[in-house]
Amino acid sequence: MSKWALLVVMVAGATSAQPYLRTRALSNSGASDLCVTWSVRKVTYRMDSAGSAKTPVEAEFTAIDNAFATWQTLARGCSDFEFIRGPRITDAKVGRGTDQDNVIIFREENCRDVVPLTDACQSDGSCGNTHKCWEHGDSTIALTTSTYSTRTGVVFDSDIEFNAGKSLDGTRFLFTTISSPPCAEGMETPFCTAYDIQNTATHEIGHLVGFDHVNGTTSTMAPTAPLADLQKRVIDPGTASGFCGTYPKGKPPVPCDELAQLKNRITARNTGTLGCSCDGVGVLWPWVSLVVLVRRRRRAAR
Ligand SMILES: [Zn+2]
Repeated sequence: MSKWALLVVMVAGATSAQPYLRTRALSNSGASDLCVTWSVRKVTYRMDSAGSAKTPVEAEFTAIDNAFATWQTLARGCSDFEFIRGPRITDAKVGRGTDQDNVIIFREENCRDVVPLTDACQSDGSCGNTHKCWEHGDSTIALTTSTYSTRTGVVFDSDIEFNAGKSLDGTRFLFTTISSPPCAEGMETPFCTAYDIQNTATHEIGHLVGFDHVNGTTSTMAPTAPLADLQKRVIDPGTASGFCGTYPKGKPPVPCDELAQLKNRITARNTGTLGCSCDGVGVLWPWVSLVVLVRRRRRAAR
């Protein structure tokens, strides 16, 4: 069994909206015909007990529960999928094979600020877990790591990290929980909406259940989020139809719709509005898929 990591980063807006796109499993030869899918219908999630340092008391836990509740409400209408809140965890690890902890963690420090260059974790990509730090891109708001079988696409474990660490330019994403007023750029405080936890979590749970980014800015699974984005708190109809179609009540999960996938890819290529970097890169953990939500940058005036 070979080891692959899939990094999907999409940028730029788009004109032709896709309803949904399922995450492809990677095999030895690249993207396979399989989609990353849960075979069980009861998925337990556990929040790291440290929570977020910047949010008041229990607000971050409530926001994440609300995001799961949104998915549960959708599931109740069409599926027997259940999201179950497990006990909080004190030493949560990301991407650890078959532990099925499905943890949610706020990374408050960037690994480059806390890990010595000589640390052994630098060579095997384990710094995030050993030093509890963010070891991914500065512009990434949050990231979901799913561990799955390359033979079947079946998910064993899916973990969500929030990037609260310091960027190279000294700024951080401020994660907030209130719905108004929107923060002004560069003036983020806990008393306005900056990077909304529920908004971010609802998007990441979409990855957890097996959905990839789509080329539209109105979807829950849009690849980018501007400051004060709340739109992703609501699951859009396309993503909802994808979920209900994938996990029908009383029936096994539905395999990928190959034609729909192909059509989506061709549409994206023809319009030229979808930037997708889908490479098998390095070895981070066995069979992991990393799907990220990035900051929507302002376009430079030209
Ligand atoms: Zn994403």
